[in-house]
Amino acid sequence: MKGIELQNILACPICQVLATFAETYYYCSHCNRQFPLRFGIPDFRIFPDPYISIDEEVAKVARILGDKEYSFVELVDRYYQFTPEVSEKLQPRYKEGLKTGVIRAENFLTQMEKAIPITDRPLLDIGCGTSGLTLLAQQRYTQVIGIDIALRWLIIGQKRLAEAGLTPLLVCANAEALPFTDNVFAGIISDSVLEHVDQAKKMLSEAARVTKPQGFFFINTANRYSLLEAYTGFPLAGLIPKQLRWKVIEKICQTPYKLNPVSVSELRYLLANTQDLRVQAYKPVINAALSQKFFSKQLITIYEKMLTSNIGNKILAHLGFFISASGYFVKNR
Ligand SMILES: [Zn+2]
Repeated sequence: MKGIELQNILACPICQVLATFAETYYYCSHCNRQFPLRFGIPDFRIFPDPYISIDEEVAKVARILGDKEYSFVELVDRYYQFTPEVSEKLQPRYKEGLKTGVIRAENFLTQMEKAIPITDRPLLDIGCGTSGLTLLAQQRYTQVIGIDIALRWLIIGQKRLAEAGLTPLLVCANAEALPFTDNVFAGIISDSVLEHVDQAKKMLSEAARVTKPQGFFFINTANRYSLLEAYTGFPLAGLIPKQLRWKVIEKICQTPYKLNPVSVSELRYLLANTQDLRVQAYKPVINAALSQKFFSKQLITIYEKMLTSNIGNKILAHLGFFISASGYFVKNR
């Protein structure tokens, strides 16, 4: 199999019928819904992301893109220039997070390859954001499609892929309603996305639907009971009830916050119908901003040592920043 054509696999996210391409949009011949191309990216969302409406987002993307050609790094800076709701204190950390996306991807794929042999294609990167993981996975395995609910991230990711000489295969879509026909993908990868999704169970059942029989998954997600919340560093956030947690973190950290991290047992429950399920502590890439703020070098060393021992890994799976899950979807043939 050579390349993969989006047109051959894109489907109505509601009817799951192959979508028809009509120059500037796709449509569903079953329910007649139309799915526009926005800035060259097919938009198959059936609901917007919780932080911004679709109209506001389209306007924001136009502002970020401006009227000249910006590089990937410039687009990231422009994004935050037009996102004053993220506090100045957190902006450098978020920016570094985006710019170092390929380094985090290296870490992700290294951990994945220990758990899962990658022998088949194509792969789906759910919640690809600005495409750091998509990029490295595409370089390594070819045929990787990225989806994200945030058009504004995809636009920036498209630039990152193009700068690496890759053809972007990106689709704007909801993880809970994937715009693909059944049994398309050999595997699902997803880096720090489950915690952003409103209906985690639906995301995983959709992932199972679009993978081939015996398709694999490797995902990591923020740990609900992490001593320090993975994104903001807020201590023991998982102990606060959800609605209150959102308010408290938004207020104290001065950043929009709508995450639903899961615990090890919740993740096991969500993936109960899978085979060879392994839930483990996930080794995060600790960026410079984070290491200055929360950690001494010694603490990082201890964290890394614990990861390599069985008991240490178990403890970190319950209290560390991230957990990962790997295995295979069980499907009826
Ligand atoms: Zn339809």
